[in-house]
Amino acid sequence: MNIDPGSYTPAPNLLEERVIMITGAGDGIGATAARTFARHGATVALLGRTQAKLEAVYDAIESDGGPKPSIVVMDFATAVADDYKNLADSIGTEFGRLDGLLHNAGVLGHLNPIEHYEVATWLEVMHVNLNAQFMLTQALMPLLRESGDASLVFTSSGVGRTGRANWGAYAVSKFGTEGLMQTLADECDWLRVNCINPGATRTAMRRAACPDEDPTTLKTPADIMATYLYLLGPDSQGTTGQSLDCQ
Ligand code: NDP
Repeated sequence: MNIDPGSYTPAPNLLEERVIMITGAGDGIGATAARTFARHGATVALLGRTQAKLEAVYDAIESDGGPKPSIVVMDFATAVADDYKNLADSIGTEFGRLDGLLHNAGVLGHLNPIEHYEVATWLEVMHVNLNAQFMLTQALMPLLRESGDASLVFTSSGVGRTGRANWGAYAVSKFGTEGLMQTLADECDWLRVNCINPGATRTAMRRAACPDEDPTTLKTPADIMATYLYLLGPDSQGTTGQSLDCQ
């Protein structure tokens, strides 16, 4: 099941009264998702590792006239269990609940065959792209339970469904993401849990992965927002355990 951006028209106030956290909100798809959600009425919690980038998104949302966002600086490469607990406590104090969580942050690592893949890079990519998503989700589940209509969205990739030479830990972490999504969806009848595969999108990560590609041939993050809005808003009630393609 996929959302046709041409035929899905999200209501302008689709996300009003919703509190949504976006990871990797300072750049690329995450920054555009945060601004888009805020434009549709959501109060967004911007999580990322680079404060200046989060502040720029914060300012953009304010100048768009969106609800006042919140900023959480956290580096998934180094965060430990207590950091996730403290984060959940502060979101609980500020908002009392969470209606949506978009796991979007990710790193590419190196493109190398498994035979030559650097162990340290493998461990970091698996940690940031997969272990951190598990820890963040677990810490925030009590707040998601407080929402009457919570939506949890993971970010997958084409290489998370069919392995491809040289994509190494990135591909394997995305397979793990699909597995985490399916396991949670099967466990939770009170929460919808789905994956998004953005497809080739014009961002820094895509440039790093495919330096010879002409970026102007790619969709921009703004072009793929229909699927994100659908999954984070009430129109996706009843959709769970799915992996949707944006393109
Ligand atoms: P970008 O590299 O543009 O953005 C990634 C974001 O993740 C950045 O904001 C970055 O923060 C953040 N991030 C990276 N590492 C950490 C960390 N250790 N702790 C906290 N935040 C971190 O990537 P995209 O926008 O392209 O990718 C977004 C998602 O979409 C990723 O999960 C990616 O795998 C997936 N995807 C992208 C595709 C594409 O073609 N672009 C295709 C398929 C999937 P900072 O800016 O501070 O570095």
